Amino acid sequence: MGLCPTRIQRDLDICISCKSCSQACPYYLPVDKKRYIISRECNGCMECTLVCPVENTLEFKTLGTGKNGWSTAKLGIVIIGIYTGVVYIAGITGHWKSSITEHEFRVRLQNINSPEITHPTVGFR
Ligand code: SF4
Ligand code: SF4
Repeated sequence: MGLCPTRIQRDLDICISCKSCSQACPYYLPVDKKRYIISRECNGCMECTLVCPVENTLEFKTLGTGKNGWSTAKLGIVIIGIYTGVVYIAGITGHWKSSITEHEFRVRLQNINSPEITHPTVGFR
């Protein structure tokens, strides 16, 4: 299972077991059999929720959110705040370093679509 901040949640009471969700999942996850899909393989593509014929049967949830938890917006703000704080502290304490120079970074950025450094099937725009 592993650590995963999101999950797909199935409402067992209204699911009609048509299996469309599992058939649509690009990673063959057993969406129609589990109450929750909490997996590193789930990339949150939402294909399962889009094909489900019964409204509100499948829902995308974020850890710690929901009725008794935080809103997704609040959780996002807290995560961004923690990230920014860590980067800032690492910067002022000299722990945020890169071995490439500013000049080299700018040159590489200009050549971001060069076949030398891009993924063979995915280009950056
Ligand atoms: S969100 Fe995408 S990857 Fe995750 S269970 Fe649904 S179809 Fe599969
Ligand atoms: S597509 Fe919806 S109704 Fe069909 S099995 Fe999956 S969750 Fe149940």
